[in-house]
Amino acid sequence: MTPVCPFVKASRPEDASSRKHQKEPGADSASIPPKCPFGYDSQSQTDPGSVSPKCPLGYDSQTFKLGPLSCMLCQALLFDCTKCVPCSHVFCKACILRFTDCPLCGADIESTEANSNLQSTVDRFIEGHGRIKRSHVENADREELSEKKTVIYEDVSLERGDFLVQQAMRAFRAQNVASAKSRLTLCAEDIRDQVAKMGSTSELCSQLGAVLGMLGDCCRAIGDAASAVTYFEESVGFLQKLPADDVEITHTLSVSLNKIGDLKYYDGDLQAARSYYERSLNVRRDAAKHSPDVPSQILDVAVSLAKVADVDRSLGNEDIAIQGFQEGIKLLESLALKSEDIGLEQRRQSVLEFLQNQLAEKEPK
Ligand SMILES: [Zn+2]
Ligand SMILES: [Zn+2]
Repeated sequence: MTPVCPFVKASRPEDASSRKHQKEPGADSASIPPKCPFGYDSQSQTDPGSVSPKCPLGYDSQTFKLGPLSCMLCQALLFDCTKCVPCSHVFCKACILRFTDCPLCGADIESTEANSNLQSTVDRFIEGHGRIKRSHVENADREELSEKKTVIYEDVSLERGDFLVQQAMRAFRAQNVASAKSRLTLCAEDIRDQVAKMGSTSELCSQLGAVLGMLGDCCRAIGDAASAVTYFEESVGFLQKLPADDVEITHTLSVSLNKIGDLKYYDGDLQAARSYYERSLNVRRDAAKHSPDVPSQILDVAVSLAKVADVDRSLGNEDIAIQGFQEGIKLLESLALKSEDIGLEQRRQSVLEFLQNQLAEKEPK
């Protein structure tokens, strides 16, 4: 059995074929950030005081229902609508192509055909859902916010960015990357439009940074490393404009930098990989300085130290590598965790073990 790197949570199928290195510098985050950048995901939408706007069709964030416009397989709105012949059940193309029998009725799928009419209904639905809110934003001078017209708009629509990201996350989880990418692209366009109108506010920068990062994940998932790097770079550009004391933003920023580093690493460009890992390390060191009481940030620093040191070793800078491993070990050994932080303690242990193994390893030659 090959040892599993403690840093890897995300599976990167595209790496499997092209991997030349035995060692795994690792990714330190799930493929897609688990949180909706708009704060509307199921974990964070728990403000009991506010009444959320409701979509009359049930397509809002809290009560999203599967309906005639949804794919039962990915549970997102249909993308590339495809009808099974002869049973006529409809799914996304990418979703149904994995089946030989219809998952709804069990009938043999003799052939499939595109259902462009239904797809255009879905597309209009998406447009309508977002455009309502968007025209509201476009018209919104600050003084006009209390106008009745805009209140009504808000009642029938959830924010398009939230909606699109949710659809994308569902599709991505079901491995319908093309669908996820399409929704995220639309979302990024919307935010860019807003940036053009309102300037680079922190909120827009952090949303765009997150959405571009997800687009990078999509490209990475389909093996398009070049586009992934481009999206991650752009994501980094927006996230860097934001204050360095926000825990979530600095985490996303450092993860994006590491993802670029990983892609460079697998591409064999170790110097570039090192420079991205080091930038990530610096972001994490800064973040840990800002909030020294957040143990997960100390762990992040240690993981980054390991990644930089790992590349240093591959580059033949053994002395610097050893220093990096030692610094990581020291950090983790002095990290006191509360007994209830079981998950963090397990992670601390496995990272520590990894670092100690690395340190014990002799210089390869
Ligand atoms: Zn689907
Ligand atoms: Zn069927």
